[in-house]
Amino acid sequence: MTLRLPHPRRRRLAKWLAGAEDVVIAAHVETCERCASTLEELSIEAGLPDLEPDPELGRAIRESLPSPEGLNERVMQRIAERERVEQEMSLFIGLISLPKDAVELMMPPVPETDDPPAIDPAPEDHQREEDQ
Ligand SMILES: [Zn+2]
Repeated sequence: MTLRLPHPRRRRLAKWLAGAEDVVIAAHVETCERCASTLEELSIEAGLPDLEPDPELGRAIRESLPSPEGLNERVMQRIAERERVEQEMSLFIGLISLPKDAVELMMPPVPETDDPPAIDPAPEDHQREEDQ
C-alpha cells in the first residue's frame, strides 16, 4: 500500500516557487501532475518566465546569430584535407590493385636502407625461401 501524501496547499507551492526550501514539495511535484500544473499556474500569475525554454525563441536566436569567425576557412581546410586524403587513398588502392609483380618492382623489400638494393641473382629462389 502506498501512502499518498496530501497535495500541498497552493500557498505552500507559491512559497516554494518563490525560492523557499521545501523538499516535500520538490519531491511531490515531481510525481504529481496536478500540483505541477498548479505550480505552472502560479508561475504564470507571478510573471515568472517559463522553466522550459521556448523552442521557437531558441531557434530564432540561433538563426540570427552570426556564424563563428573563421568557420568557413576551417570548413574549407577540412574539405581540402579530406580531398587530399582521398587522393592518397586512391593511389594506395591503385597500388594494391596492380599485379603483384608490379607492386614488388615499385616497392623494394627494404626501402629504409641507404645501401643500393642488392641484385639478387636468383629472385625465384629468394622468393621461395621467404615463403617457407
Ligand atoms: Zn499534488
